[in-house]
Amino acid sequence: MNDFSTVIIGGGISGLTCAKYLNEKGMSFVILESSDALGGRVRTDMVEGFRLDRGFQTLLANYSEARKILNYSHLDLNYFESGVLIKAKKGFTKLESPFKDKGSIFSKAFSPIGSWSDRLKIKKFAKYVADIPDEELFGMDDIETIKFLKKYGWSKEIIQQFFKPFFGSIFHDNELHTSSNLFHFVFKQFFKGEMAIPAEGIQAIPEQISDMISKEKIRLNTIVKGIEDNKVFLENGKILTADRIVIATDPLTADRFLDEDKIYEHQLTTCTYFSAEYSPLKGQKYLTLNPDRKGVVHNLFVPTDISPSYGTTGKTLISVSTHGLEKIDERNHISRIKREVYDWFGAQVNVWKHIRTYHIPDALPKFPSGTKKQPLKLNENLYRCGDYLAYPSLNAAMQTGREVAEMISEI
Ligand SMILES: Cc1cc2nc3c(=O)[nH]c(=O)nc-3n(C[C@H](O)[C@H](O)[C@H](O)COP(=O)(O)OP(=O)(O)OC[C@H]3O[C@@H](n4cnc5c(N)ncnc54)[C@H](O)[C@@H]3O)c2cc1C
Repeated sequence: MNDFSTVIIGGGISGLTCAKYLNEKGMSFVILESSDALGGRVRTDMVEGFRLDRGFQTLLANYSEARKILNYSHLDLNYFESGVLIKAKKGFTKLESPFKDKGSIFSKAFSPIGSWSDRLKIKKFAKYVADIPDEELFGMDDIETIKFLKKYGWSKEIIQQFFKPFFGSIFHDNELHTSSNLFHFVFKQFFKGEMAIPAEGIQAIPEQISDMISKEKIRLNTIVKGIEDNKVFLENGKILTADRIVIATDPLTADRFLDEDKIYEHQLTTCTYFSAEYSPLKGQKYLTLNPDRKGVVHNLFVPTDISPSYGTTGKTLISVSTHGLEKIDERNHISRIKREVYDWFGAQVNVWKHIRTYHIPDALPKFPSGTKKQPLKLNENLYRCGDYLAYPSLNAAMQTGREVAEMISEI
């Protein structure tokens, strides 16, 4: 008799989702998580009275898997405005609802960037993509997003001013080499829904899922060293046995367990937080984009404008995502950001106080064109889940976790 029916290795979103669905079916399991809390890449730290998400992360409220599993009203989601601010030569250009199929799409006020033909193409593309089921979107022939945008006929101006900075920020991929299938999927999410953060920080998402699972089924600070048949070897020397093992770790650890040697590449990002006396965006709930691809700042927003509970001191929290500053020391890093955003907001940036910087080398698995979903069932007793097996997103982590739970509960 084995110690457990199912052992899930990894308590990120995919492992937690798998556990949640197994729990619902009354199946027994244990989650082994190496770190001090659940959530994997979805974590929030409380620092100097601010909630700091580990990197700029949002929930796209239309995600089909998230809607199945999460209770949005309990998460108390706070929504960004449906639009973006784009840094212009002087000040900012506001792009209202760029994805929405609304009457306003034809007015110049809707989009001061791009041509009449660009706006018609957005409308046409939104209509096309809206009704395609997600699985079909990922089964289509794909090319690099940048090539797709050009092929679709969007102008150089709208690609440079909007598509590149916006999708570059979402994909963490400056040049949009990412598959056009992911572009279709994300475009659809923005057309059908909005971007949000939970009032208590992004970690409220894994916390809500884990609240559906009893605490004795979760073991934190438990590092798995390897697996063999029905055995799970822990770093502390213990050996657990299980009828089934689910590997819900990052891809490199999974490969180590499986004795495989695939090459997984990741998109990296850096997120730096500052506090200030007042909001540089004056309360506007927009993501602010930098179309100057030579700049290091990709995007900036004010979490306390979106969700006041990101700060508990009455001060403002500012989030700046950058690319290309990974190798320089912290002092130079901060002064480089401040130099760049001085041009955006003027002298007020001189008194912004640096709170913390997160360098995240493995933010998202790269998703080049030609990437296909990988098998989740390896044999009768061995399964794996995680975003890297489908596509980089919370939705994929949830989907693969659910699918593994369904396979196990059908046995
Ligand atoms: C900066 C950033 C921004 C993002 N932005 C968005 C966004 O806006 N929208 C979106 O949809 N997605 C976003 N994502 C992606 C999303 O966070 C991931 O797709 C999702 O969290 C992946 O979950 P996972 O369970 O597949 O993997 P992970 O979160 O990597 O979980 C793996 C877990 O396995 C554990 N583990 C590893 N090794 C061991 C071991 N040996 N023993 C035990 N446990 C182990 C790890 O500690 C971890 O908890 C972002 C990610 C980052 C980092």
